[in-house]
Amino acid sequence: MRALEILLESDSDIKMASQKMRMPLISMTFLLILGIVIVSIYFIYDGVAAYLGGSTNYTYQIMEGTLGFITSTYMMTHFMKRLGIRHRPTSPNIVTVIECRKCGFKQIRKFMKGDYILKSVENCQKCNEPMLITGIYSEEVKAN
Ligand SMILES: [Zn+2]
Repeated sequence: MRALEILLESDSDIKMASQKMRMPLISMTFLLILGIVIVSIYFIYDGVAAYLGGSTNYTYQIMEGTLGFITSTYMMTHFMKRLGIRHRPTSPNIVTVIECRKCGFKQIRKFMKGDYILKSVENCQKCNEPMLITGIYSEEVKAN
């Protein structure tokens, strides 16, 4: 039991440490990628300058720069995805509340285009009177 306690304790310590390390690690990686981008741009610029200067040694530099640029861009997107910065493709579940002014019958259905508050819609199921939209709201969507 004692050993287990120690194990659990050290485990939470590791978690704490990794949480503390998370932020500097993110900025470090970001700076590294940024560095590659800058170097790549420099290589491309240098290659273009060599080309304009009449040198025949520019192809390699441009190729290297482009390759570096593509690699860093790929790394950046991959990194962003892992961080979850990318916009989450969740569609909000919007519902419309319809109420009968006469008998108070209430109905909730999915929001439809053109719905607005106090719009009169289909007739009441109970008393056959036209019903009104009394509310439009977004339902909590469970995150996956
Ligand atoms: Zn009614």
